[in-house]
Amino acid sequence: MAFFEVKNLTKRFGGLIAVNDVSFSVEENQIIGLIGPNGAGKSTFFATIAGYYKPDEGNVEFDGEEIGGLLPETIAHKGITRTFQIVRPFGTLTVLENVMVGAFLRTKNRKKAQERAEEILEFTGLAHKRNLSGAALTIADKKRLELARALATRPRLLLLDEVMAGLTPKETQEAVELIRKVNKQGITLFIVEHVMEVIMPISHQIFVLDEGKLISAGPPDVVAKDPAVVKAYLGERYYAEYQGS
Ligand code: ADP
Ligand code: MG
Repeated sequence: MAFFEVKNLTKRFGGLIAVNDVSFSVEENQIIGLIGPNGAGKSTFFATIAGYYKPDEGNVEFDGEEIGGLLPETIAHKGITRTFQIVRPFGTLTVLENVMVGAFLRTKNRKKAQERAEEILEFTGLAHKRNLSGAALTIADKKRLELARALATRPRLLLLDEVMAGLTPKETQEAVELIRKVNKQGITLFIVEHVMEVIMPISHQIFVLDEGKLISAGPPDVVAKDPAVVKAYLGERYYAEYQGS
């Protein structure tokens, strides 16, 4: 039994097939890099497995159980949480309260939610900003807060949608370190990220979507050499660099 598996997953918007007959399985504890051009279906794929859209066809299995079409909160309870490509911390809440929103998935007790949130703030390096309003944070800290809020739900599978977009190289490096630390806790990650130099080294496997189809999947060095991927997405420049490194 696979930890997580999709079979023939399809999601349409009217005549447009955003996710087209995608099948794969992944083992627990991996980091999976999900790449593909803009409009390839990456965010829709995340939204569909997290319950924000119902699959039009196919199955989503988590820990041997069919979860396709369940509500987002039910799926989160089972252990799958996503972040959003557009960060949207609740601006009127403090950083601590934002993370407590995540923690309330697992407890109704305010004190327990706060304890959990404090732990996560330490873990993510946001503890000293706990009393700031979410709206006052820099982009990098908003992305970190988004991750913290997701971690507070105690996911087993975490879907990160462009959490490193818009960061400086130094901030990106810090985010990569945090992602590795999250993975070391036993959490499986799917990461959508456009910068190849960032996603290739941290991923155990790379999945490539193009026009809704999974056109390649495998270890980064294998996928980077796949002619279909080079043609659809990577371009000759990256291919040459990756070969040279
Ligand atoms: P990616 O995240 O890979 O850039 P998306 O999943 O956002 O791609 O989009 C995949 C395709 O589905 C695009 O053609 C996009 O325009 C379309 N799409 C995404 N969301 C919707 C929606 N809510 N309604 C209609 N079309 C959508
Ligand atoms: Mg997207």
